[in-house]
Amino acid sequence: MNLFVTQNFKMGKENLNINETVEMVKLVASSIIESEPLLTDADRNLGDGDHGLGMERGMNAVLDKISDSTFENISDVFKATGMAMMSSMGGASGALFGTLFRNGGKALEGKEVLDSEGIKLFLEAANEGVKSRGGASVGDKTMIDALEPAAEEAMNHTSLPLFESIKLVAQAAEAGKEKSKDMIATMGRAKTLGERSLGHPDAGACSIAIIFESMSKFINK
Ligand code: ADP
Ligand code: MG
Repeated sequence: MNLFVTQNFKMGKENLNINETVEMVKLVASSIIESEPLLTDADRNLGDGDHGLGMERGMNAVLDKISDSTFENISDVFKATGMAMMSSMGGASGALFGTLFRNGGKALEGKEVLDSEGIKLFLEAANEGVKSRGGASVGDKTMIDALEPAAEEAMNHTSLPLFESIKLVAQAAEAGKEKSKDMIATMGRAKTLGERSLGHPDAGACSIAIIFESMSKFINK
C-alpha cells in the first residue's frame, strides 16, 4: 500500500491565471443569477425589491462581455466586469458594483496571475472606491458591511496560498452580511424604515457574500 497518496488529497489553487480568472468570474455571475429570488426578497424587505433583477441583468451582461473578449491580464477581466455592470444595471447599485469591480481591477494593472496579494489589492481598492462613491461606512447597513470586513481579512492573509485566504475572505463577507441584520439602515432606500430595518440582512451585503463565496468555491474546486 502506498502511504504517500498525496495526489488524492485535493488542495485548492495557489493562484489563478488569466483563463481561470475568467472562469471564476463566470461562476460569480451564474451564482448571482441563481440567487435572484433571494436577492429580490432581501431588497423587498428593506428597499424596492429590484436588487435581484438588477444584479441578474448586470451579471448576464458580464457573461456576454467576457465570453466575447480575450484578455491579456487579470486587471482587464475585472475592469470589463465592472463596465458591463455599470452600463447595464443603472441605479445606485449599478454604479456601486461597477465601481467595485472597476477599481478593484485597476489595482491589478499588468498582472497575469491572481494571488493572495492580488486579492488584497483588489479588495482594498474596491472598498475605498465604493465608500468614496456612495459615502457609506461600516454600520450603515449597506454592502460596505460585508465588503470592508472582507477587505480587512484579505490584508491579514497575503502570505497564505490563495485557496486559504479566499476562504477567510468569504467567511468575513458572510459574517458581515449576518451582522447587517442587527443594524438600523442610515443610507439608501432602507433609511426611511428606521428600526423596522432590524432583523433583515442588507441586499447588497447579500450580493457581496455570494460574490466571495463563489470565488472561494471556484478557487477551492
Ligand atoms: P436601489 O437602491 O437603486 O434600488 P439596488 O436595490 O440594486 O439599488 O441596491 C440596493 C443596495 O445598494 C443596498 O442593499 C445597499 O447594499 C447598496 N447601497 C445603496 N446605497 C448605498 C451607498 N450609498 N453606499 C453603499 N451601498 C449602497
Ligand atoms: Mg432596490
